[in-house]
Amino acid sequence: ARMKKVVKFGGSSLADAKQIQKAAAIIKADPERRYVVPSAPGKRFSDDIKVTDMLYTCYDLAEQGLDFSDALDAIQARYNDIISGLGMDFSLQAEFSEIAENFKKRAGKDYAASRGEYLNGKVIAAYLGFPFVDAAEVIFFQPDGSLNDEKTEKVLRERLSGLENAVIPGFYGANPDGTVRTFSRGGSDVTGSLVAKAIHADIYENWTDVSGCLICDPRIVNNPEPIKTITYRELRELAYMGATVLHEDAIFPVRAAGIPVNIKNTNQPEDRGTMIVSESAEHCDHIITGIAGKKGMSVINIEKDKMNSEIGFGKNVLRALEKSNVSFEHMPSGVDTMSVVIATEALAGKETAIIDEIKSRVHPDQIYIESNLALIAV
Ligand code: ASP
Repeated sequence: ARMKKVVKFGGSSLADAKQIQKAAAIIKADPERRYVVPSAPGKRFSDDIKVTDMLYTCYDLAEQGLDFSDALDAIQARYNDIISGLGMDFSLQAEFSEIAENFKKRAGKDYAASRGEYLNGKVIAAYLGFPFVDAAEVIFFQPDGSLNDEKTEKVLRERLSGLENAVIPGFYGANPDGTVRTFSRGGSDVTGSLVAKAIHADIYENWTDVSGCLICDPRIVNNPEPIKTITYRELRELAYMGATVLHEDAIFPVRAAGIPVNIKNTNQPEDRGTMIVSESAEHCDHIITGIAGKKGMSVINIEKDKMNSEIGFGKNVLRALEKSNVSFEHMPSGVDTMSVVIATEALAGKETAIIDEIKSRVHPDQIYIESNLALIAV
């Protein structure tokens, strides 16, 4: 059977006509790149505004009953720039009229934001000559706002099995009543992952503006190398610590299906990027895969001679946290010491209650809080 690749392009990869041409060249260079998931046009330069943010602002005006026509015109101008830059004979006039009507009817913030992907999907589908599949017809949410995985997978698979190629806009789907709902910000990654799982893709290519996940934060270390291969589990750890590469919820569908993700750079398509895999055999190019960190941490330090041999000591400490409804980040321990790392924000106002509770439960020799710490994950 022929390989099937799902390709998702982020906002900076589709910010203007030039970027869309690069994306199109990448897609056309490989006939296995059959299903395309676009984001809305992102920033063209560092203080530019993403179309998604323009839409939120515009809809805010509509919701307040204010005139939003200039704001909507500015969005339409971005698409018109793209369309003319691509040399296309194509118009979104009908779509923009409909959007204006729906804004007047207060169609909702999610509907508004989703139009960025919807419109970009229309343009890109026309440019590539691929069919357009509206995400509201193939991605479904439950009444509680979580994803309806089963229905989504079934409908996506049925719909795409009949199509050699398709463009499916990212970031949104439909509520049970048919209204539009978006994922959280950056959610086009999730759409790509769902499409990849539904069609049993061989690979999910996630095209962005960096050549993969970097070994560490480029704002702290000059010019770090990209990670060649990382497991889903390692990526979860680094992402939790603030290394933002892929939307958190994008990992689960592909991981469940054993589909590797390749993070690739639209501006340097020959770079191999980062492969995210479930098990890593060829994983020994570096002992350390990556380093990430989070500031704003506090540590409760607990000392007691021979705590190590006291059955239930750890449980009792954690019970005290549970009682104050606080979750912890990390819990290193020694023979006579235990440290519980907690986000300072989560601990705020609860310090005394927690310390008193720990004291009465485990009678430590010493207990104190240290703040202004960072947690570093290696
Ligand atoms: N356009 C949306 C956002 O800016 C979703 C995405 O780009 O993935 O968050």
